[in-house]
Amino acid sequence: MQALKYARAASVDDAIRLLRDGGEAARVLAGGTDLIVQARERRREVHLLVDIKRLAETMVLAYHAPTPPDAPPGFYIYPGLEVGAAVPLYRVYGDPDVQRHYRALVEASHVIGGTAIQGRATLGGNLANASPAADSIPAMMALGGVARVVGAGGTREIPVAEFCTGPGRSALQPTEFIVSLYFPPPASRSGSAWERFIPRNEMDIAVVNAAAYLAFEGDTVSEARLALGAVAPTPLALPDVAAALVGRPLDDAAIDRASAAASAAARPISDMRGTEAQRRRLVGVLVGRVLRKAAARARGEEVPA
Ligand SMILES: Cc1cc2nc3c(=O)[nH]c(=O)nc-3n(C[C@H](O)[C@H](O)[C@H](O)COP(=O)(O)OP(=O)(O)OC[C@H]3O[C@@H](n4cnc5c(N)ncnc54)[C@H](O)[C@@H]3O)c2cc1C
Repeated sequence: MQALKYARAASVDDAIRLLRDGGEAARVLAGGTDLIVQARERRREVHLLVDIKRLAETMVLAYHAPTPPDAPPGFYIYPGLEVGAAVPLYRVYGDPDVQRHYRALVEASHVIGGTAIQGRATLGGNLANASPAADSIPAMMALGGVARVVGAGGTREIPVAEFCTGPGRSALQPTEFIVSLYFPPPASRSGSAWERFIPRNEMDIAVVNAAAYLAFEGDTVSEARLALGAVAPTPLALPDVAAALVGRPLDDAAIDRASAAASAAARPISDMRGTEAQRRRLVGVLVGRVLRKAAARARGEEVPA
């Protein structure tokens, strides 16, 4: 283990100052379930941990429904879900609004590590760690997530789909950190789903994971988003595969076409957890499953995780 200093940020500005003064070896500490392991094994040089868990902005968890048509004039609440970057996963998947409107997020965050890990680990940490196999990132991509980021240069928003730039690398600049994650409110007839394949429960790193969001007008798909994990150097959005689903019913033929197109779009490698061919095959299977599950949820059916 390296010699580490610890500082608890008293405000967002204080966190920026600590990161700026600490230089490259200053790291944001959320749950620490990746960072402490990496520091102990000296896989990452860390001299200063900047704890962001005591900030109101990073601990917010709030859902606002779209403004009802009969609301009084001038009444407006910015609709959607805001998840502070330091909110532990058990609070995310335990939240009734998240359970109702963002099923893919519940499914992904519920399997990260085990109960002890979920008591500390965060969506912000899963995203910032930028592992190609991170479980929550495809779910956040499918749900249209946006990272709200602050730093010495001000504030900005980065779509989750554009956040990871390589294995362990992200679009964050020095001194920048994620304050919260925002998800737009789902359409009224919509559903989402997430699945992963692991060879056995004890082995936590996904061989492949996949997430889908679908919205319908009548029987026709009106909106679609698909994303994959563990099949490319970064989690992979599939905008073209999703766009081909829009404007037609989601029948078996459409699902088969999407599964085949997703398999072709994946760029997997062979490693100790799976071969390239196995991963391509799994992509097709999981995409079919998440599309069927998301569609069933859009129809109002109870579909267990
Ligand atoms: C036993 C075990 C099992 C695990 N199982 C899984 C699994 O099944 N699936 C999975 O995807 N992962 C798994 N993980 C990895 C880890 O738990 C997750 O990636 C977790 O979500 C990380 O969140 P954290 O809050 O602990 O991040 P931290 O460890 O605090 O931080 C991770 C990295 O992100 C940076 N960071 C954290 N928050 C921010 C922020 N707000 N802004 C900018 N940078 C930030 C840190 O500086 C660090 O570099 C497992 C880990 C362990 C130890």
